Order: sequence, then structure tokens, then C-alpha cells
Amino acid sequence: MYVSVCLGLPSQRVDLGAENFYTEGMKEFIVSACLAGLPCKYNGGSNTCPAVVALVRQGRAVTACPESLGGLKAPRPPAEQQQGKVLDKTGKDVSEAFHKGAQAAMEVARHFGCTKAIVKTKSPSCGAGHIYDGTFSHTLTPGDGLWVQALKAEGIAIYTEKDLPPECAEPHFLAKKS
Ligand code: SF4
Repeated sequence: MYVSVCLGLPSQRVDLGAENFYTEGMKEFIVSACLAGLPCKYNGGSNTCPAVVALVRQGRAVTACPESLGGLKAPRPPAEQQQGKVLDKTGKDVSEAFHKGAQAAMEVARHFGCTKAIVKTKSPSCGAGHIYDGTFSHTLTPGDGLWVQALKAEGIAIYTEKDLPPECAEPHFLAKKS
């Protein structure tokens, strides 16, 4: 079972290896791990979104990074979808790792009974609606990341850090404990 680290809940962490942890119980949300502050982004950074961190702290969300679950380390060269494949900026075909990671992240979603996802925009794995076009020029094209394609196929509702679910707009949401 591979699930990425859940920030802010050290007492509930279960270590499954160098980068993978999980917390117990069913979760309403599965979220892109970089939005929860994990340094799994291609450049070794994160894309911390306070609302996503709050959901994790409230015990309502589990995190997953499909690319790390596919065996890719951070930092790594950026990659983009190109004509049915995923190639990194050096020209290496990393499609297998991306598909493997998307399936592993789906296993996480199934395991925790997640019905909603909050994913990182533009990513070749996590992007929803628009992704980078394969030219490494920050140009977007209509499409979904590989993980998001799989999430949609299973009927999981998709939100992004730019289009958060309504509950995140509730008064005092960020300060709620659980
Ligand atoms: S694969 Fe998704 S979760 Fe992982 S770093 Fe990229 S956008 Fe974030």
C-alpha cells in the first residue's frame, strides 16, 4: 500500500517507507500531495494550498503524489504529455512510471473510499481541464493528467486549488480542528 505523507498529524503517521505514510480511517478527499505541502514537485518544492492543508489536518483528506508513487524522485526533470506519451525535458519516455503512479494513486483513493479529489492544475498527472502541451514553453492545451483521467473514470468529483470545494469557503474553515 503506497500513500504519501499526511502533514500535521504526526501521531497518526504510519511509515511505509522513505516517502510513504498514511493515516487511518475513511477519507472524503484525496489530494495532490504537493498541495498539502509535501516537497514532491519536480523541482523538489511544493505547491502548498492552505485549504488543502486544513482538510488534511482535519482528518478529511489523504494525500497522494502519483509521480512519486510511480517511482520518480524529487527533484527530477519536468515532464509533459506529448502525443499519447509522457516525455521529460531530456526526451526520456517516462510514460510507464506515470501510468504506474496513476494506478497506485487510484488504489489509495479506493482504499480510503474517497469521493472527491483536489488536484494540482496543469500537471501531466494531476492537471484537470488543461495541461501543459508538451513543448515545455508553459503553454496549456485542453486535457487531463493521467491520474485525473482515472479519477474521473471512477466518478470521483474533481476540484483544484483554483476551484476549491464549497466547504472550503465556510466561515473559519482554515481554523477548524476536525
Ligand atoms: S504529480 Fe501531482 S501531487 Fe505529485 S508533485 Fe506533481 S502535481 Fe503534485
